[in-house]
Amino acid sequence: MNTKQKRFFLQEEEIPTQWYNIQADMPTKPLPPLNPQTKEPMTAEDLFPVFAKECSRQEFNTTDAWIEIPEEVREKYKNYRSTPLVRAYDLEKAIGTKCHIYFKNESVSPIGSHKINSALAQAYYCREEGVTNVTTETGAGQWGAALSYAAKVFGLEAAVYQVKISYEQKPYRRSIMRTYGAQVTPSPSMSTRAGKDVLTADPFNNGSLGTAISEAVELAVSTPNCKYVLGSVLNHVALHQTVIGLEAEKQMEMAGEYPDVVIGCFGGGSNFGGLAFPFMRHTLCEGKKTRYIAAEPASCPKLTRGKFQYDFGDLAGLTPMLPMYTLGHNFMPSNIHAGGLRYHGAGMIISQLMRDGYMEAVDIQETETFRAGMLFAKAEGIIPAPESCHAIAAAINEAKAADERGEEKVILFCLSGHGLIDMTAYDQYLSGSLHDYEVPQEEIDRNIAELEEIIKE
Ligand SMILES: *Cc1c(COP(=O)(O)O)cnc(C)c1O
Repeated sequence: MNTKQKRFFLQEEEIPTQWYNIQADMPTKPLPPLNPQTKEPMTAEDLFPVFAKECSRQEFNTTDAWIEIPEEVREKYKNYRSTPLVRAYDLEKAIGTKCHIYFKNESVSPIGSHKINSALAQAYYCREEGVTNVTTETGAGQWGAALSYAAKVFGLEAAVYQVKISYEQKPYRRSIMRTYGAQVTPSPSMSTRAGKDVLTADPFNNGSLGTAISEAVELAVSTPNCKYVLGSVLNHVALHQTVIGLEAEKQMEMAGEYPDVVIGCFGGGSNFGGLAFPFMRHTLCEGKKTRYIAAEPASCPKLTRGKFQYDFGDLAGLTPMLPMYTLGHNFMPSNIHAGGLRYHGAGMIISQLMRDGYMEAVDIQETETFRAGMLFAKAEGIIPAPESCHAIAAAINEAKAADERGEEKVILFCLSGHGLIDMTAYDQYLSGSLHDYEVPQEEIDRNIAELEEIIKE
């Protein structure tokens, strides 16, 4: 074992050929999604009008632990995978910890985040099924950028609804999407009924992922040969992201270590699940003791303060109802810079694992995340995405807590993306104009109460 080695890579032929489907190994399977009108349990076929068929089948697959990565998708993965696993020696030194901290660096992908791992898969399945157009929503623009590129790779036209506040705050992501050839519309827009409804009630609405999803789904079901694709939350998205954890597992082995703690920032659960699930299979199947920590923003705390409850995935209530930890689909998160974490609910698999006690969650204030991001940037040289800063902050807190207990833990976190297009956020932090925000309990209670009323109807 060479303890001085800093970065671990896999050979091309060692890049995983299958994704890991944790649903097969879960002792309690996620509850089924419900039809929003009839409240009846849904099947894969019910999703075919909206999603690619293969993605719909993967969504409901609770039996196959391993699912083949299509050859063409693997070929595209090779453009940037394996991504490095890095021992963060300099970060360890900066915080003076005895713990060993590793990060899986997904920021090296062409679009700068992990989102491309699922975008390529979904675009591929759409093309295989003869789909010509794809539509989606995007917050900070990471998912929109990933999908725009993936659509181009597989010859599809992409239409992206971008949450208006991000459209204005992050003009360069918009430019990136357009560079790949996508059509980008700020949401809420007047181009859909869902968008019009929001704008009529509130002309200055900043938009939310929930609203943008309503708009994209509406476009998909009303346009021939058009499918909707989603960048997080759903089971098949987390499935595609397991390429992260499967690589990390082999790379940790090369480093001669095994993580005691696995950490990911948390929007809907895809980078966290992608890194954690392959390790968690050893917990589920062999009883291995590892802690899994999702790091979410204090301003959007669905896992730490939300309720486990059937809820819609979008604002207008067009999507299936999913069993998840939620703040209520009416929840309008504050305008934090980690746009990718501003979502009201958690994915179904994660929600069930959380409920069954297999994982933990922490919520972190925005200024603390940037403090951690700055420390990381100064030590390791990489400027992390505001979302990823949540994982870094959680990793630092875990290391410090272990030091206090006199323990030397091995901590692994996902660096889900870089922050080079998020420098406005860093500027605000540096000029002292970022403020912490705690969601008032009444707001959460009110949203959940409204939701329970809707469900009763
Ligand atoms: C979208 C995004 C996230 C959050 O989404 P998950 O599905 O929870 O992973 C985190 N980090 C970055 C860089 C993102 O773009």
